[in-house]
Amino acid sequence: MANRPLGTSHKPWEDQSEGSENLVRGGGGWLAAGFLKPGARLMQTKTIALPKLNNLSPSLESTAIKLMEEAGELGAAIGKFRGLNGEKVDLTNQEVARTIGRELLDVAQTAITMMFVLEEQFHVDINSLLEQHVDKLIRKGYLSPVFLENDPDDAKGRNY
Ligand SMILES: [Mg+2]
Repeated sequence: MANRPLGTSHKPWEDQSEGSENLVRGGGGWLAAGFLKPGARLMQTKTIALPKLNNLSPSLESTAIKLMEEAGELGAAIGKFRGLNGEKVDLTNQEVARTIGRELLDVAQTAITMMFVLEEQFHVDINSLLEQHVDKLIRKGYLSPVFLENDPDDAKGRNY
């Protein structure tokens, strides 16, 4: 477990660690930014695996437009099904929340598709951008990671 990044494997099915199982199944857990060694930053995460769509030929422009379309559908779902437009809502709160969740997954799927486009067509290293992204969240005060002080295995039993 030591000296190995969690959640960054390109072939998680070849890796039997707990973190990688989370990548395949989806779920939550702790993600180490960097390697599991003293000084590693740990943060609670939500990990989902979304597929690369192999029946499409997406471009930066088409995915950008699709992302806006899906964001609009998400906004519409929130507005319509939460009754913000004044219409009577016949769905339960749970059904409304599930509909919103479905639209949110459409947004996430499109974002993932755009990441594949950036990697494959523009050679952008999303993993290195991800580290910078986490640094930014910390710098802006949105995230306070837990710093691993001693034994990397200490993190295993942590509750969240
Ligand atoms: Mg949609």
